[in-house]
Amino acid sequence: MQTQRARPFDVNAVGWLIDRMSVTTTQTCQVKTSVFGVCGDDRAAICQYCGRGFCSRHGVVFNDDQGVRQEVCSRKQCVAKREDLDRHLVYKAAVTVRNDRGACGVDRCGSELGTECVRCKGLFCQEHVRRREEAVFENQVKVPRMATLCRHCWARRPIWLKR
Ligand SMILES: [Zn+2]
Ligand SMILES: [Zn+2]
Ligand SMILES: [Zn+2]
Ligand SMILES: [Zn+2]
Repeated sequence: MQTQRARPFDVNAVGWLIDRMSVTTTQTCQVKTSVFGVCGDDRAAICQYCGRGFCSRHGVVFNDDQGVRQEVCSRKQCVAKREDLDRHLVYKAAVTVRNDRGACGVDRCGSELGTECVRCKGLFCQEHVRRREEAVFENQVKVPRMATLCRHCWARRPIWLKR
């Protein structure tokens, strides 16, 4: 048995600070399969989000668009992160197109762009970006921090705070 930190990952792509919690990764699959316990099959990979080992049936290993290897277990909190990341990249692309035309990143908003969202780096009008208090993890502890966020990035917060 070894204690291992979940691998750090590309904060720019995710646009979110990941809580790099330390879990004890074992050589076997740690995905819960019933109320009584975990799967226990041979480990195929280690989940990049939660740090648990998983077998070939309880997760996916694939390369993303940039060719970066992704290992994600089948726990619903981790699947939600993977799906959110896909949605986020689509959103970011749409915001970039609008910003390139000098428009606020929100679809059909006619206002001029002004302020940058700290997560997606998109530009938004005063109406569509706001300073808000968010919680981030620092050394396993949730701490409040002020951040300027668009509505999309504000709405996806809870997904990334679930472990
Ligand atoms: Zn996981
Ligand atoms: Zn398994
Ligand atoms: Zn944003
Ligand atoms: Zn706007």
